[in-house]
Amino acid sequence: MIVPHDAQGQPISFKVPASWLYAGVFTLVFCLLLVGSSIVYSTLISRRLIGYSQAIAQNQKQEARLSAFSQKTAQLLGAIDQLVSEENNLRQMLGLKSWKNQARLPFDLKSSPEAKDKISLELGRAAIKLSERRESLDELKSWVKRIQERLADTPTSWPIHGRITSGFGYRSYPWRGTHKGVDIQAQYGAPIRATADGVVASAGWIRGYGKTVVLSHQHGLSTIYGHCSRFNVAPGQKVARGQVVGFVGLTGWTTGAHLHYEVRKFETAQNPMAYLDMNVLSASRMWRGKNGSI
Ligand SMILES: [Zn+2]
Repeated sequence: MIVPHDAQGQPISFKVPASWLYAGVFTLVFCLLLVGSSIVYSTLISRRLIGYSQAIAQNQKQEARLSAFSQKTAQLLGAIDQLVSEENNLRQMLGLKSWKNQARLPFDLKSSPEAKDKISLELGRAAIKLSERRESLDELKSWVKRIQERLADTPTSWPIHGRITSGFGYRSYPWRGTHKGVDIQAQYGAPIRATADGVVASAGWIRGYGKTVVLSHQHGLSTIYGHCSRFNVAPGQKVARGQVVGFVGLTGWTTGAHLHYEVRKFETAQNPMAYLDMNVLSASRMWRGKNGSI
């Protein structure tokens, strides 16, 4: 029933079945619930969306970091490869074989879950390459040390400074055979110096050579200093490289003051020029064996 406020108005009455009323209340409650739940649900969804977008941003940041990391790893591998090529240049200069890079991944790394990760794999490879470099450099270092030690016992310095007037193998007079050493022009009385550490094997007269000093060195090498005017050492004496062994003269078959200098290996005359001014690089090339041994 609807009752109007003014007195003239007739109240309007109509009958509504009780089931309609229940249905109306039920619909209202249902609508309220629907609205309420959709507010709650949309709040949840929007929160989740915010979370997602934050996660995506973080993911992008991490991806950027990972790609920078991967780039750095690639740069590291490139730098190591450059090191290898420079080291191989040095090996070539020394007359040694190039070092072949293995960079094989050990089994445990291959089968580990890290193997799926490219960066981990590359870092593993870099670590192996670096350890190989250490091995190779150790080998190079010990080789150069051996060369240096042997150079100390090799007649590499000049006995006297002067012009070479007659070279090795030169045939000046047919009856004398080939020239077994080099003739170095020098002033009469100029000091003659030992070209390597050694022992005085003899200091006496040799036919043709005149007053001659013979020094014996390591590895079957000996040096001969001929046409001396006088000696400065006695047989059996130890001499150091650069020590004065005698003085330039005119003794033996000679027409002018000069030093006749010979290098012999197991009594066979060698070209002294091959030894003079020898350095680590030329010595390494000369002495390298088949398996890299002196
Ligand atoms: Zn000579």
